Amino acid sequence: MAEDKVSNGFAPRRVPSYDEVLNCIRCGLCLSVCPTYRQTGTETNAPRGRIALIRAAAEGKLELSPNFVDHMYRCLNCMACASVCPSGVQAHDIIVDARVEIDNKLPQPAVKNMIFEGLLPSPGKMEAAVWPIRLYQRTGLRWLAERTGLLKLLPYHLGETAKMPPTLPVSPLRGKLPEVTPAEGERKYRVGFFLGCAQSLLFAESSAGTVRVLARNGAEVVTPKDLVCCGMPAMAYGDLDTAMKLARQNIDLFEKAGVDAIITDCATCGEFGKHYKELLKHDPAYAEKAAAYSDRVKDISQFLADIPMDGRLAELKLKVTYHDPCHLVRGQGVAAEPRRLLKMIPGVEFVEMKEANWCCGGAGTYMLTHYETSMGILDRKMANAAATNAEVIVSGCPVCQMQLGYGVKRAKLPMKVTHPIALLDQAYRKLSGKG
Ligand code: SF4
Ligand code: SF4
Repeated sequence: MAEDKVSNGFAPRRVPSYDEVLNCIRCGLCLSVCPTYRQTGTETNAPRGRIALIRAAAEGKLELSPNFVDHMYRCLNCMACASVCPSGVQAHDIIVDARVEIDNKLPQPAVKNMIFEGLLPSPGKMEAAVWPIRLYQRTGLRWLAERTGLLKLLPYHLGETAKMPPTLPVSPLRGKLPEVTPAEGERKYRVGFFLGCAQSLLFAESSAGTVRVLARNGAEVVTPKDLVCCGMPAMAYGDLDTAMKLARQNIDLFEKAGVDAIITDCATCGEFGKHYKELLKHDPAYAEKAAAYSDRVKDISQFLADIPMDGRLAELKLKVTYHDPCHLVRGQGVAAEPRRLLKMIPGVEFVEMKEANWCCGGAGTYMLTHYETSMGILDRKMANAAATNAEVIVSGCPVCQMQLGYGVKRAKLPMKVTHPIALLDQAYRKLSGKG
């Protein structure tokens, strides 16, 4: 994959800008880095082809037909195309703009409104919604379904996708974390922690570790209980209004908290938070507050890179490789920081994988909605991971972790998947005799 230029990121507008579409000179440079093009070999699954479709629709030559909609939703929003485009075309943004247009002009499935307008603004309802998965995993039903072959009877790829979620924690982290976690020793910083929905619901222990690492390094950590989804899932499905509503709620919460920085250990929440200022720039009541919010958002690895860290860490004898989440490497330009943290841990042998910044095919719900393409992309990633002979694959995004975890199971690899800060936390705890 070519050297990345950092993308300008997510800049949603209501209508795709025709001028930006015209900037595409059809050179085809983006084709070689587009995972969906590399997987399918078809022009309509390439950035250039998608832009041509959007141009034809904007010129009134093409209907917003089911076929058009399908091509817009086959994009992973991985931003790889923008990182190599000589004309600066942000194809991923233009494609999301097209989804907003689809959301505005075409009737949407009831389930979409139920999830985005009903569940996302309510963490309590989201937590209730995952209870059936927890029961399925913890009552022996999963064991039974997997052992008896029942899953194979399910239509489409439902049987396979049922194997994807990791075992859910007994309870989400949101209810367990105190609103304020004191710093260990002298308080040097007061930071907000943006606990993402997926981290709280799926990877609770990992985010508990993030708070411990922050406290260990002198931060008092404020985790607002009423935090809602960052809004990226709604935005990715073209529901701009819900995305803006969620952003406003989060901005208000952290404004009250009076923190120096807003830290997250979820690449997606971080990227979208950094773009609240674009999202709300035309809202007179929120434009300024959104800019102040975005300027304070930092990925945990960025925050730790900027402070004098406690370097007393126990040895972890592990061979580790790293997968760059798209929303971190291209969305935020963060690549060196997590690697530096991993190399700080005594005993860790870091080995770079080939195409570390190539999308893993997770992309939100992509592995559910486009199973076969997603698995083709995942197979490429797992082949690169396996070639390192690492024992652990590390990545700072819950969706990537889930996808890579499934990739490990699918390829029967002797590897674990975790978050970089979870390893750092392990090394701190081991030194304190707790890990
Ligand atoms: S690299 Fe940019 S200009 Fe070239 S075809 Fe792709 S989007 Fe168009
Ligand atoms: S964002 Fe990724 S999947 Fe979408 S067109 Fe660009 S390179 Fe292809």
